[in-house]
Amino acid sequence: MRIVIKVGTSTLAHPSGLLNIRRVEELCKVMSDLENAGHELILVSSGAIGMGIGKLSLKEKPHDIPTKQAAAAVGQCELMYTYDKLFSEYNRTVAQILLNGADIANDERRQNFENTVYRLLQFGVIPIINENDTVATEEIVIGDNDTLGAVVATAVGADLLILLSDIDGLFTSDPHKDENAKLLPIIEDITPEIYAMTGGAVTSLGTGGMHTKLHAAQIATEKGVEMVIANGQDPDILYDIVEGKNIGTRFLAKGEH
Ligand code: GLU
Repeated sequence: MRIVIKVGTSTLAHPSGLLNIRRVEELCKVMSDLENAGHELILVSSGAIGMGIGKLSLKEKPHDIPTKQAAAAVGQCELMYTYDKLFSEYNRTVAQILLNGADIANDERRQNFENTVYRLLQFGVIPIINENDTVATEEIVIGDNDTLGAVVATAVGADLLILLSDIDGLFTSDPHKDENAKLLPIIEDITPEIYAMTGGAVTSLGTGGMHTKLHAAQIATEKGVEMVIANGQDPDILYDIVEGKNIGTRFLAKGEH
C-alpha cells in the first residue's frame, strides 16, 4: 500500500517545544519496518515552528509572521536532521519536500512534485513533506498539515492517509469536556451533523483541530483515499491501522483515484 502518514506537533514534541525523543524514535522504527514489509510511505510532518520555538528558547508560540517564519526555518532544519539520523539507523534514506498552495494549484509544479515523489518511492526513499512556512503568505498558504496531508495523498494516489494526533479519533462531542463522548469508529458520509460535533479543539503548539481533520477527510475520501484519525502517542498503532483493524476513526473512500 502507498500510505501518507501525517504527524502533528503535539505528537512530535513535548509541550516545551522540545522533541519527544522516545516517540519520534519509535515512529521512525515502525515506519522503517512497514517499508521493509513492502509498503510505500510518505511522511507529512509538522513541528518546524514548535521545534524552532524550543531551539530558540522562545517563551511562547510567536504571533507575528517573521518570528513564526524564523522559528520554522530553524525548526525545519532540526526536524530533518533528527529524521535523517533516526531513519538511517534502519538503513532508510529520507528526502525533504517543502510545498505551498501555489505549487499544488499550478499544474506544471504539481506534476513536478508528483514526479519527484514517484521517483523517490522507486528509490525506496521516504519523502518527508511540510509546508514551506518561510515563504508562505496568506494567499498561497495551505495553512495546516491535515489539509496538506490530504492534498499530498490525493496527488500521489495514496491508498490510505493516516493522521496521527493527540486524540483517539472523532468523538460525538469533545471528550475533554464530556465524559459521555463516544468514539465514532467508521464514517461513511461527512454530513453537516458530523461537522457540528467538532468543537474546534486546538493544542497550544499545533495549528490543527478536528475541523481541519474533517476537511482533510473530505478532500481525501472524495478522491478515493481512505483516511484514519488515530492517537500518535504510541506509533506502534500504525501496524494495526495498516492491517485494517478497528483503530481510531476510519473515513471510507468514496470517489475513484
Ligand atoms: N507547517 C507547520 C510547522 O511545521 C505546521 C502546520 C500544522 O501543524 O498544521 O510547524
